[in-house]
Amino acid sequence: MICARCHRALVRDPIYLSGSAYGPRCATAITGSKPRRGRITTALRAADGRQHELFAEETS
Ligand SMILES: [Zn+2]
Repeated sequence: MICARCHRALVRDPIYLSGSAYGPRCATAITGSKPRRGRITTALRAADGRQHELFAEETS
């Protein structure tokens, strides 16, 4: 994998911005802030009591 901005070989996992792979430094230079790399957002996983349990076992 090669960085789309500086064309250097990326050793670690690249950061994808609009379909192109960038290194951490270039991604930071483009976005202005350090992008997050695949961090799980727990805010979206708030419990909703009205929903049914997704993985409830069916006893039949
Ligand atoms: Zn780069």
